Amino acid sequence: MNVYERARRHAWFMAGALLLAILFVLTIDRFFGHSTIAFGIAIVGLVIANSRMLGFNCPRCGKNLFFRGLLVVPWPNRKCGRCGAQLEQPKDR
Ligand SMILES: [Zn+2]
Repeated sequence: MNVYERARRHAWFMAGALLLAILFVLTIDRFFGHSTIAFGIAIVGLVIANSRMLGFNCPRCGKNLFFRGLLVVPWPNRKCGRCGAQLEQPKDR
C-alpha cells in the first residue's frame, strides 16, 4: 500500500474519531450538563489520534501529504506539493 492510500485511511479514521468525539461531548453534556473537561478530553484525544498524520510524508522529498504550504488540510495530497511526485498509484498497476 502506498503512502497516499495509508494517508487516506488515516483521513477516514480521523473523520470517525471526530464523530466519536462530538458524540462523546454531546452525551456528557446531556447527562451531566455542560462539561469543559469532556471537551478537553475529546480535543486531547483527537490531537493524539492525529499525531500519526506527521508520518505520512512524500517518499521523494519528505513533504507531509496533509500540508498545503502552511495550511493543514484533513485530506492528503494526490500529488506532492513540493516536488510534484505522483503519490496515488493507478489501481491497475
Ligand atoms: Zn515530494
